Amino acid sequence: MSTFQAPKGTYDLIPPESAKYLAVREAIAAPLRNSGYGYIETPGFENVELFARGVGESTDIVTKEMYTFETKGGSQLALRPEGTASVLRAALEANLHKLGNLPVKLWYSGSYYRYERPQKGRYRHFSQVGAEAIGAEDPALDAELIILADQAYRSLGLRGFRIILNSLGDKECRPVYREALQNFLRGLDLDEETLRRADINPLRVLDDKRPDVQKQLTDAPLLRDYLCDACKAYHEEVRELITAAGVVFEDDPKLVRGLDYYTRTTFEFVHDGLGAQSAVGGGGRYDGLSEMIGGPALPSVGWALGVDRTVLALEAEGVELELPASTSVFAVPLSEEARRVLFTKVTELRKLGIAADFSYGSKGLKGAMKSANRSGARYAVIAGERDLAEGVVQLKDMESGDQTAVGVNEIVAELESKLG
Ligand code: AMP
Repeated sequence: MSTFQAPKGTYDLIPPESAKYLAVREAIAAPLRNSGYGYIETPGFENVELFARGVGESTDIVTKEMYTFETKGGSQLALRPEGTASVLRAALEANLHKLGNLPVKLWYSGSYYRYERPQKGRYRHFSQVGAEAIGAEDPALDAELIILADQAYRSLGLRGFRIILNSLGDKECRPVYREALQNFLRGLDLDEETLRRADINPLRVLDDKRPDVQKQLTDAPLLRDYLCDACKAYHEEVRELITAAGVVFEDDPKLVRGLDYYTRTTFEFVHDGLGAQSAVGGGGRYDGLSEMIGGPALPSVGWALGVDRTVLALEAEGVELELPASTSVFAVPLSEEARRVLFTKVTELRKLGIAADFSYGSKGLKGAMKSANRSGARYAVIAGERDLAEGVVQLKDMESGDQTAVGVNEIVAELESKLG
C-alpha cells in the first residue's frame, strides 16, 4: 500500500517551522489580550444557512468555496470558511450583547476551510487569528482594531506591509451608489457571469482581478463621491485617529472585500513580497450582519489576519523570529544507574521551568551527543558509572565545549543559576 499524503491544498506544520506559526499566533493575540478582548472558540462547522446569510449568497466563498455536507441526522452543515459569522452567532446565542457591557470584544484563533484553487499563499485549510468588537458604533473602535493589527505585525518585525483603507458607506448612501455603479456596469462589455454579479452585488465587480475588466473600470463611479455626511464624518475620524497613532495607511477608493457584510470602514493589510496572494489580513465594519442572521441591530467591527501568509511574509522579508530555545539542557546517561539518576534530574529541571530533554533508547555516547547537538541545548549533562561512583556528573557547555564535573546533588541548582 502506498503511504498517504496530506489532501490537496493542505500542508502539515512540522518542527522546527511549526514554532513560527505558534509565535505568529501569539504575536497577533498579545495586543488583543492587552486591550480588553476575551478569547472565544466556536465549532469548526456551522449550519450552512449561517454562512449563506452571513457571508453572502453571491460571494465566491459561499457559491464555490464552501465545504458543505449533510450529517447522518439530515443537518446541512459547512466547515467554517471564516470567523466573523460564527463569532457573532455565538455572542448572540450566549446573549453577550445583553450583559450591558458593549462593545463585546472577542478574539479567536483557528482553522478555516475554503475549496479554492491552491497556490502559494492560498490553501484549502488555513489559519487565522481574528478579533471582533460587537455592538458599538464608534470610530475609535475601528481605529483601535487597525492600530492593534499594525502593532501585531510590527512586533513580529514585519515592515513591508501596507494598510489600505476605504469606506463602503451605509444603508443610506450605499444604495444610491449601488445604482449608479450598476448603470455604469451595464454599459460595459462584460461576460454573462460578471453581468449577473453586477446585478446581485455590483461592488464586487470592482474587485475583479482581470486586467481587461479593470481597464473598463477606470471611469467607474467611486463610492467616495457618494458617501453621506454621516459616513464621511465617521471615516474622517477613523483616519484622524489612526494617523494620530502614527499608523501609516493609503486610501483606496476601490477597495471592496469578498464578503457582503461590510459597511463603512473597510481595510486590508497587504504585503508586497507575496506575489498574487498579497493580502495578509483584512476586516472592517459590519453594522448589518447581526440583523442578517436574525439578531438585533448591533453595529460591529473586526478583522482576521492570516497566519499562513504572515509566516510567508516574514520569510519574504528574511525576518528571523527570536524563538525560545526548545531545549536548554540535554541529559546523556551512559549506564543503567545514570539513566535513573539523570531522568530524575531532568524531571526536576522541567518542574523548575527549564526546558530539558533526555537521550532515550540505547544510543551510545556518540549518538547521544549528536542528539544533544541537534536539540540546540545550551548544556549537556553526561554521566557514566565512574562519574556516579565519584558523586558527580559532567556538565558540558555546548557553545564553548568546556566540560566540568559538578556534584550530583548540585547539578540542578548549578543549571538553574546558569540559565536563570
Ligand atoms: P478574508 O476573510 O478572505 O478577508 O481573509 C482574511 C485573511 O485570511 C486573508 O488576508 C489571508 O491572509 C487569509 N486567507 C484567506 N483565505 C486564505 C486561503 N485560502 N489560504 C491562506 N490564507 C487565506
